[in-house]
Formats: sequence, structure tokens, C-alpha cells
Amino acid sequence: MSVKPALPLKERMKHAIADETLIAAVKKTTDRLEGGKLSSSEALGNWEEWRKQGSRIRSHVVEHLDYYLGQLIENVKKRGGHVHIADSAKEAVDIFLRITREKNAKSVIKSKSMVSEEVHVNKALEDIGVEVIESDLGEYIIQLFGEAPSHIIVPAIHKNRYQIKDKFNEISGENLTEDTPTLTAFARRQLRKAFLQADIGVSGCNFAIAETGSIVMFTNEGNGRMVTTLPPVHVAFMGMERLIPSFEDLETFVNLLPRSATGQKITTYVSVINGARQEGDLDGAQEFHLIIVDNGRSKILGDEEFQEVLNCIRCGACLNVCPVYRHIGGHAYGDVYPGPIGAVLTPLLRDDMETWGDLPYASSLCGACTEACPVRIPLHDMLVRHRARYVKLGLAPKWEQMAFKAWSKTFARPGRYKLSMKAARLMVPFMARDGFIEKGPLNMMGWTHARHFPSPAKQSFREQWSKLSGELKGGGDHE
Ligand code: SF4
Repeated sequence: MSVKPALPLKERMKHAIADETLIAAVKKTTDRLEGGKLSSSEALGNWEEWRKQGSRIRSHVVEHLDYYLGQLIENVKKRGGHVHIADSAKEAVDIFLRITREKNAKSVIKSKSMVSEEVHVNKALEDIGVEVIESDLGEYIIQLFGEAPSHIIVPAIHKNRYQIKDKFNEISGENLTEDTPTLTAFARRQLRKAFLQADIGVSGCNFAIAETGSIVMFTNEGNGRMVTTLPPVHVAFMGMERLIPSFEDLETFVNLLPRSATGQKITTYVSVINGARQEGDLDGAQEFHLIIVDNGRSKILGDEEFQEVLNCIRCGACLNVCPVYRHIGGHAYGDVYPGPIGAVLTPLLRDDMETWGDLPYASSLCGACTEACPVRIPLHDMLVRHRARYVKLGLAPKWEQMAFKAWSKTFARPGRYKLSMKAARLMVPFMARDGFIEKGPLNMMGWTHARHFPSPAKQSFREQWSKLSGELKGGGDHE
């Protein structure tokens, strides 16, 4: 089932562009993340070799996913964990609600998990009267605003400290200032109570290690450890592709993920969770459940044009460099995964080109996302492939289909091409001023609305060339 966004993509973009606070906040943080990524990847040296290695490991896993999933499930069970497979978002939620009811849980605390956002767990819990609290600071903030994350790594990227201060004061009746230590101290005070009273802790899973049955989480705030060790029950949500074969392979991703995500050499915490508490352990949940979510992923397997997108490690680097994301933020993409990865992944996961097939047009195809991707996913090629499918399905606007047919017919014949260029130049005096067209006709208006379009030269290159070569042959002056 595909959830339809309330507004079409163009309307969502218009709203985002009109929000100056959002644009400034997104730009400030993406600049910082991108700068950090460049210096930390340079410091590592051989960044391309690390990327190739990351890509090799991920491609290998995805190509042998059935084998590694089997190995993981076996090893989690050996350690006493419970494994659940969810084919759809609804199944994932149903499984989780069943666990919640069995445990008679009243309160759930979560650390960051994009998959749980994808299947909309929070809403389902609230509907049955279970309190659910996000413990990642960014997630906590947007939960108070009643919003969804707008970045994979920095969920509240679109908010500034003044907005956060106002929200904290609104819910607490306090009079906090906007400085970071004050705001984080407030969140910490609120969350401490929630950690202690929660019946279930929910986490995501950056990687699952098949050979050991371990769940690996990269976090900075320490909340991931609290969520997975304090409540009596720990439930981890995992996208079915988030596997690596062995502990040894983790080294590659310990280097690639934090550098690409936040520019850190390593995150403050790298937690490796080996199921529930064993005899002699000092801490840990008494019960561990792993919910492996398919929700459209197995359809991508075997699709030659898109299988590689399953290599994604959700670092968010492609968002930080994308000129479109930087101008509209994450909510305009309309679903849980924003930016270039969202534009590729959403139409595939939702399996609905009619609703989501215009997302791949939210790209300049500059290729910056592909360059930034630590596992070398050819994102901009995939965006073009999506567009080709969109056109083949007959979903492109009729005027566009006709325009491109006319364009290909014109440009396929030199005579027609020359004639069209002559006709365009004849129009220039009516439209151009000082070498630029300020108000273009028809679809050109979209461009000239925001910037001037350079007017075509009075003479084409071919005309200039034949004139010049005639002058040269005739012995004209030249320096
Ligand atoms: S596509 Fe690449 S850059 Fe984008 S989130 Fe995934 S791994 Fe990171």
C-alpha cells in the first residue's frame, strides 16, 4: 500500500523554498557536515580504496542475501534471541504490537531507527494508548513538533535553536535560554525519567553481523546504550539488507560510515549487542527480539538497474551535497527517505510510480551524490533510469512527450536543426535584453522566474566558422 502525500511535489517544494529559516538551517548544517566529511576522509588516506572495499562487501552481501540472512537468524537464535520476519510495514507493526501486548507494556523508549519511521511504529503505539518517547535528541525535538525527520542522520536539521527553545518552554512552562548546554540539559532531564520507566526499548540496526548474530549501532549521545540495556525487553528493527558477513568487515564501515555521515573519525559509541543478557553479564535486556523488515526490498533484488541501491548504509552524505536537498530540506520529498537516496528508493519501496515517479525529477543530475556515496552507488544513473521508466509507463505529461518527440525529430536532421536555430534567433530581439532573456515563454518561464537565460548568439558557431575560414583563406588580418 502506498501512502499518498497531501500535496504534489511542486507544491511541497514551493512551500519549502518559501521557508527562509528552514533553508538557512539546512544550509548551515549540511555545509558543516560536508566540510567535516572532506577533511576526515582526506585524513584517512586512500579514500577511494576504502569506498571500493565498502562497495565490494555490500554488493557481495546483497548478492548472497539469502545465505547471510539464514546465518544471522541461526546465530541470533543460538544466543536466545527471537527473530521475526515482516514482509510488509503492516506486518512489522503487528509483530511489534503483539510483543507490546504480551509484555503488557505501557511505555516504549526508542533510539534512532529509520526503519521504524518507515513502517510508522509510533502512530500505531499511540493508537493503542502506549506512550512512545524518542531518545535521540533530534528525534525528541521533532517528536515534540509532531513532525517527521527531515534528514537521515540529523532529523531536526530544519530547526534552529530559537525554535527549539520556544518549543521546550511551551511544553515545560520554563524560561530556558537558547544555548546548547541549557537545551540539551533540559532534554536529558526529561529523558532520564523515560529511560527508567520504559517497559520496552526499541533500536535500529546500522549493521547486523551474520557470523556472530550481533547488532551494531553507531551513536553519539549514549541513548542507544540506555535503550538497549535499561528496559527489560529490547526490540531491534532492521532492514533486511543491513548485513555484513563478519566482524572483520566491520572495520571498513567503522571508517566509512561516521566519516561520511558527520565527518567524525568514529562515533562516540559503537555498540555491538549480542542478544539478551547472558549469565554473568552486568547489564542488558532480559529479552531480545529482532524484526527483519522486507517492505519492498526483496522486489529490488534481481532488478539489474536498481539492486545496488540496497548497498546503502544510510549515511546521509548524498543529502549533504545535493543542491536540490540543500534548497528544499527533507520534508518536500514527501516520505521517510529524503535527498537523492530517497528519490531513488521511495518509488521502489512504495512500488508506485504514479505517486512517487516524479521524485527522480527533483535532481539536477550533477552527480555530486554519486561522488559522495561511500559505497559508490551510481545514484544519478539510477535517477535517469527511473525517469526512463516513468516515461515508458506513459506517466510523463503529454506536452512533455510531444515536445521531446518534436525535439528528437528536429535534432536528428541537420537541415531541420539549422532552421530551428534560425527561428530561435529571430525571436531573440523580442525577448532578450542586454544578452539575457528575463521572461521566457512556456516552460522556459520556470527557469527565467529565478534567473536570466543567456540569449543565443546572433550568429551560430557554424556561421561564424565559415566566415572566419573564408577570411583566413582570403588572407585576412589575424594576430
Ligand atoms: S546512497 Fe550512499 S551517500 Fe546516500 S545515504 Fe546511502 S550510502 Fe550514504
